[in-house]
Amino acid sequence: MAKMKAAVVNPKVNGFVEVVEKDIRPLAYNEALVEVEYCGVCHTDLHVASGDYGVKEGVVLGHEGIGIVKQLGEGVTALKVGDRVSIAWMYKACGACEYCNTGRETLCRSVLNSGYTADGGMATHCIVNADYAVKVPAGLDPAQASSITCAGVTCYKAIKVSGVRPGQWIAIYGAGGLGNLGVQYAKKVFGAHVVAIDINDDKLAFAQETGADFVINAAKEDAAKIMQEKCGGVHAAVVTAVSKAAFNSAVDAVRAGGRVVAVGLPPESMDLSIPRIVLDGIEVVGSLVGTRKDLEEAFQFGAEGLVVPKVQLRTLDEAPAIFDEMRAGKITGRMVIDMHKGASGCCGACGGAGH
Ligand code: NAD
Ligand code: ZN
Ligand code: ZN
Repeated sequence: MAKMKAAVVNPKVNGFVEVVEKDIRPLAYNEALVEVEYCGVCHTDLHVASGDYGVKEGVVLGHEGIGIVKQLGEGVTALKVGDRVSIAWMYKACGACEYCNTGRETLCRSVLNSGYTADGGMATHCIVNADYAVKVPAGLDPAQASSITCAGVTCYKAIKVSGVRPGQWIAIYGAGGLGNLGVQYAKKVFGAHVVAIDINDDKLAFAQETGADFVINAAKEDAAKIMQEKCGGVHAAVVTAVSKAAFNSAVDAVRAGGRVVAVGLPPESMDLSIPRIVLDGIEVVGSLVGTRKDLEEAFQFGAEGLVVPKVQLRTLDEAPAIFDEMRAGKITGRMVIDMHKGASGCCGACGGAGH
């Protein structure tokens, strides 16, 4: 049986993730084998590895994968060998339920998620369901496409859900892997005015470079108060920060009738003042990644150069170190594993430097 190298969850090892060799299982009906080129590390991978949503020992992590189709299983019509495709959080849905049939397929009750309930893309190889692997458009750099596969599309969709219109104000809480792309989509695609909020000055400097109209360090200042003073409260807020304090602040930062879109997944509860919600007509709503159509759209804006993910290429063997850096909040932009960089089993033609 052919083998692959993969980053898997192991609650017993330091960093909760280890790189192992695994068998590549045979393809089932409508599946394809993808040779992975790049896979970004999302904070959700850290939540999964840390057991925040239950112990997932042995699962291959990763849902920001991009790779090339190498082999087709029986029945595949949607893909051909050589296609460049994504391995996104939505690995596969049922295609037949109320959610799947009303444009809300990410909410399908029998969905499988890459790197959580199905083996994901943080590996040299990954098996995908042909109908759920979204093609990467020509002209989009595959390493940058990896960041759009989760971070980009999640923010793109959340901004859609926020209902913000051109010329209105939106707050993006958390300027990390998701948030810096949220700033770019909000500004360049939706035509909104953008406030970026984080607790780290480096991330805020980057948010300012990529289009934020102003930034606030929530560790030093009262973000909601500043937004109420400077712009009369924002029309919408998208919260990607991994902290309940940010969710609470977002409710105070929006103007009457404003909408708070919850995206970050700290495993805790937020406070909601009932009079604030009722008297000011505030809405709080969750948003989960994006549909295949959302991803196609988010990719296209990347291909057109409106949104440019900041990526730093690393090796698969560095996966445990990347998780430690993310836990320590040290990453600006996205760490992306280049499966060919320093890979054992690489063809050798590149000297391990990547193809
Ligand atoms: P990240 O670690 O790159 O970024 C998180 C950012 O939040 C950091 O820059 C950090 O400094 C900032 N932060 C922490 N406390 C803050 C505070 N009080 N106020 C403002 N900023 C604060 O993580 P990421 O990869 O961008 O993921 C962010 C969150 O989104 C994670 O919880 C992840 O699981 C979740 N997520 C959700 C979806 C979805 O579909 N809803 C998709 C992907 C990721
Ligand atoms: Zn993600
Ligand atoms: Zn369904």
